[in-house]
Amino acid sequence: MSECLFCAIAAGDIPGDVLVRTDRVMAFRDIDPKAPTHILIIPIEHYDDVPSVALADASLAGEIFEVAAGLAAAEGIDQTGHRLVANTGQQGGQTVGHAHVHLLGGRSLGWPPG
Ligand code: 5GP
Ligand code: ZN
Repeated sequence: MSECLFCAIAAGDIPGDVLVRTDRVMAFRDIDPKAPTHILIIPIEHYDDVPSVALADASLAGEIFEVAAGLAAAEGIDQTGHRLVANTGQQGGQTVGHAHVHLLGGRSLGWPPG
């Protein structure tokens, strides 16, 4: 089994509540939701973080945001508003070292983050 948690979910070695799977991107619900909708969108291939995806393969980064936009509509939070977050590195609050974008919505989200 992969040592990377999200690689293991992508491989099906660890179960995930998967909503979308394309050739290159997948999305599943966060195990500890911080909002009524809390979905993680990831590249299936391992990258350490979102900037690494953007620099290596801008079209893949675009696909991640395309899937996020579709899920926002599917969850009914495209019109009410929502937030896309890419925590990056230690000071960015990243805890899982596989690139992921959070889709959060369904309640008013405070700003700025703590
Ligand atoms: P980060 O802090 O790296 O930006 O976000 C990692 C996210 O992964 C957290 O919101 C956390 O709740 C979520 N997470 C951690 N372990 C698992 C897991 O095993 N399954 C799922 N679906 N989400 C997880
Ligand atoms: Zn990984």
